[in-house]
Amino acid sequence: MRRGCLMVISAPSGAGKTTLIRQLLRLEKNLIFSVSHTTRSPRPGEVEGKDYYFVSREEFESLVAAGAFLEWAEVHGNLYGTSMEKIREHLDSGRDVVLDIDVQGARQVRKKMGLEAALIFILPPSWSELERRLRSRGTEDEASLRRRLDAARQEIQAASEFDYLVLNDRFDRALSALRSILTAERLRSFRHSDLLRQWLT
Ligand code: 5GP
Repeated sequence: MRRGCLMVISAPSGAGKTTLIRQLLRLEKNLIFSVSHTTRSPRPGEVEGKDYYFVSREEFESLVAAGAFLEWAEVHGNLYGTSMEKIREHLDSGRDVVLDIDVQGARQVRKKMGLEAALIFILPPSWSELERRLRSRGTEDEASLRRRLDAARQEIQAASEFDYLVLNDRFDRALSALRSILTAERLRSFRHSDLLRQWLT
């Protein structure tokens, strides 16, 4: 049995990443979403254990001290982290896992997991569209909108460190690009050493 693939998806907020990931999960039955821990408060409609594990700063810090996270980072003033245990379990049992994390987190995953993780960056169609999307969410005040736009610029500067770039100018095209990446990643030769051994013995 092959080991699962780790898909790491980063994007500035407003690029459409959440919707793309949700749809990808609907279509790809072997793909599992890694639920992060965060110290930020839930937004309306967000569900504990489905969108995030919402924890206090103290709880988060004790998880960091216990070495529970594959990666963690401070994003827009809140802490976010990916717990290691579940991911290992899924990958070992051949399930693919998708991480929705920021650029700092993606870099840490690359350091720890090397090429086992596929790093994917999603670009919004344009700056004006990104700003429009952030405004239309209505969950942001002006100051936090500015912060997110500044953060977006910095994140996009890091896009060349990623393995794949997906432009989300048309949702269906971006979604099919993500599915193609998953298909390609599943076929990488290092995941199939058992099969190769069978052929060569
Ligand atoms: P939001 O608060 O809008 O849900 O997420 C803000 C940012 O935090 C997004 O870019 C999201 O990808 C990132 N994020 C969510 N979970 C994690 C995580 O576990 N680790 C890291 N490094 N970033 C995360």
